[in-house]
Amino acid sequence: MIVEAYGAHAGEKPLEPMEIIRRAPGAHDVQIDIAYCGVCHSDIHQVRSEWPGTLYPCVPGHEIVGRVSAVGAHVVDFQVDDLVGIGCIVDSCQNCEECDVGLENYCDGMVGTYNGPTPDAPGHTLGGYSQQIVVHERYVLRIRHPEAQLAAVAPLLCAGITTYSPLRHWKTGPGKKVGIVGIGGLGHIGIKLAHAMGAHVVAFTTSESKREAAKALGADEAVVSRNADEMAAHAKSFDFILNTVAAPHDLDAFVVLLKRDGAMTLVGAPATPHPSPNVMNLILKRRSIAGSAIGGIPETQEMLDFCAERGIVSDIEMIRADEINEAYERMINGDVKYRFVIDNASLTAL
Ligand code: NAP
Ligand code: ZN
Repeated sequence: MIVEAYGAHAGEKPLEPMEIIRRAPGAHDVQIDIAYCGVCHSDIHQVRSEWPGTLYPCVPGHEIVGRVSAVGAHVVDFQVDDLVGIGCIVDSCQNCEECDVGLENYCDGMVGTYNGPTPDAPGHTLGGYSQQIVVHERYVLRIRHPEAQLAAVAPLLCAGITTYSPLRHWKTGPGKKVGIVGIGGLGHIGIKLAHAMGAHVVAFTTSESKREAAKALGADEAVVSRNADEMAAHAKSFDFILNTVAAPHDLDAFVVLLKRDGAMTLVGAPATPHPSPNVMNLILKRRSIAGSAIGGIPETQEMLDFCAERGIVSDIEMIRADEINEAYERMINGDVKYRFVIDNASLTAL
C-alpha cells in the first residue's frame, strides 16, 4: 500500500513529503495506523549522515504508537483496534544467544525500524514519520496507558527503554545515588524512571534554565555541570551515572564523581569521539565506563507496564510533520521540553 511519509533524499537536504510503500501483512505481521511518532536525536544523527551508512530515501522515526488496522492469519496476541507501539527494532535473527533471552537489541542481525536491511522496497526499512507500518508480531508492544496519554507514551519506545534498561542493569533502587547527565529527551525520562525506582537522583545539565525543571521532573538535586564548585561537592559519591549527552565532552568531569566500583554508562552516541578519559581515574577506584543500546522486546514491554502502573509519560511538544526541520534545529539548540512528537494525522493533509 502507498502511504504518505516525511523523509530526506540526502544528508544535506531538509526532510520533505514523500510517498512510500508498505507491504501487505504476512501471516505473522501486524499492520499499524500510526497516530504519533516521537522525535529522537538519533533521527537527526541518522538522517543527516552524522553516523556512517545512511541509506536514502531516509524516513526516520522509532518512537511509534498507534492502532492495529490488520493482522496476519497466524497472529493471536493482537487484534484490530488494539493500542500498540513499535520501538527501534522491527526484526532480528530470532535464533541466537541474544534473541533466545529476549536481548534482540544485541543480536548481530537486529533490523532497525529505519535504515535496516529488508526485502521490502526500497531495500531498507522506513520509520515512523509515516501513516502506517507493518511489523512482525514479535516486535509489537502493548500499550496499557489510557488512550488520552498516547502521544506522551510514544517517546517511551526509545527514550524510555534506553534509560530503563541500564538503570535496571546497574541496579538502581533505594539507597543508590544515581546521576543523569543531559536533560533532553532521554535524560528527562531517565530522571522520572530513576526516581520511580527509589534512587537518590541528581540531574546534571549545562543549562541553568533546567535546574528547577529537573527537580520538578523528580530529581532530588540538580547540578549545573559547567560550575566546577558544584561538581566538586559530589566527588566520589555516585553508585551510577547515566550519560545521555549527544555531543563530545570531558568524561573525566563525571568519572571522578563515582565511588569505588561505580560505573558511568554512555547512551549518548555523538557523531565524533569524546576526548579519551584519564585511565588513572578508572584504575585507582576500580571505576568503569560502559555502554548500553536501547533494550530487548520483553524489557521494553516491562518498561511500558512499569510506566503505565505509575502514570509515567514523556513531557512533549506536539508538532505537525511539516514542522520537523524546525524541530531538529530547536533540538540541536537544546530548545525542547522535552520531546517533540509528530501528530501523524498531519501527514494526511500534505
Ligand atoms: P536530546 O533530546 O537532544 O538531548 C540531549 C541533551 O544533551 C541536551 O538536551 C543537553 O542537555 C545535552 N547536550 C547536548 N549537547 C551538549 C553539549 N555540547 N554539551 C553538554 N551537553 C549537551 O537528545 P536525545 O534524544 O535525548 O538523545 C541523546 C543521545 O542519545 C543522542 O546521541 C542519541 O543518538 C543517543 N541515543 C542512544 C540510544 C542508545 O541505544 N544508546 C538510544 C537513543 C538515543 P542539557 O541542556 O541538560 O545539558
Ligand atoms: Zn531513539
